[in-house]
Amino acid sequence: MLTRLPPVRGRYTENAPLGETSWFRCGGRAEVLYKPADAEDLSNFLKGCPEDIPVTVLGVCSNVIIRDGGIKGVTIKLGGSFAEIEVDTKEGIVSAGAAALDINVATAAQRAGLAGLEFLSGIPGSVGGAVRMNAGAYGRETVDVLIEATTLDRMGQFKIYKPSEMDMSYRYNGIPENFIFTGAKFRGVADDSAAIEARMNEIKEKRAATQPVRARTGGSTFANPTPDELRAHSLPEGMKAWQMIDKVGGRGLAIGGAQMSELHCNFMLNNGNATSAELEALGEEIRRRVMEQFGYSLRWEIKRIGEFVAVGNA
Ligand SMILES: Cc1cc2nc3c(=O)[nH]c(=O)nc-3n(C[C@H](O)[C@H](O)[C@H](O)COP(=O)(O)OP(=O)(O)OC[C@H]3O[C@@H](n4cnc5c(N)ncnc54)[C@H](O)[C@@H]3O)c2cc1C
Repeated sequence: MLTRLPPVRGRYTENAPLGETSWFRCGGRAEVLYKPADAEDLSNFLKGCPEDIPVTVLGVCSNVIIRDGGIKGVTIKLGGSFAEIEVDTKEGIVSAGAAALDINVATAAQRAGLAGLEFLSGIPGSVGGAVRMNAGAYGRETVDVLIEATTLDRMGQFKIYKPSEMDMSYRYNGIPENFIFTGAKFRGVADDSAAIEARMNEIKEKRAATQPVRARTGGSTFANPTPDELRAHSLPEGMKAWQMIDKVGGRGLAIGGAQMSELHCNFMLNNGNATSAELEALGEEIRRRVMEQFGYSLRWEIKRIGEFVAVGNA
């Protein structure tokens, strides 16, 4: 396929390991991995990449199952030139490249005495992943602090979007799937650095006590039902996905090396040698049980990407 791809200043790698670089540490390879040199290089790649070649962008893979058959076409991973963070303390604006880690964005804001981005410190993803997933925690979501995001479309054209133009809601961003976020601006509010740091430490402690933060996991497996969905299914107000999973015997349930966490039963774990097919099969078993008992179809929050290989054939 390399011969069909445009020349770039960045790097192409054929048959590159991918699954093992994900938080789950399982799954296949990228047919071609492309690390762009910078945003201009990426734009030129998109302009020159034939339309029939699938293009997938990944962050740091903290919310994905890479399927065992790997990803066809070109998988893009943004590197160092997309990881810069700049803080305008006077205006209360934090500008970050899409590859910047959420924790680094939160820390830069904290050091500059800007509050409001503390919730990002507990989310182990990148800015691109946060904007795509509208990541959130402890009552705040990315959309609450986002000023604008810069995107590249499949034709390599840059465009800046405001949150109101992206139809963002709970773990959802309406921007077409094949758009790539290259950076974003966030708003902070002046506050005492030490007070912000204390709140970040609180988040860290709370997470360590309630989530398997050091495990091979992908965070919450299923999205919580929305209030409208709960009403439509006559389910109790405020019911969470984990409560349904718990009630159907999902806590600790295992298929092969895949297991629902005992500590936080909406977190799925690779206990050592799970295949991605086993992770998916476990998730589908949970969905089946929840459907049977509650008549509700749990929505995967984790993105499953790539070519499916059935359990036993991976
Ligand atoms: C221990 C743990 C705790 C977690 N806690 C939380 C939490 O509290 N709240 C929460 O919301 N999430 C949580 N997550 C999930 C995850 O960290 C977030 O969804 C995060 O925003 C994903 O970012 P990422 O860079 O890892 O994206 P990836 O997992 O690499 O990708 C996720 C999706 O975003 C897309 N994407 C990534 N980068 C870009 C880009 N530049 N342009 C366009 N699309 C892109 C990918 O194609 C994919 O569809 C947790 C995960 C773990 C492992």
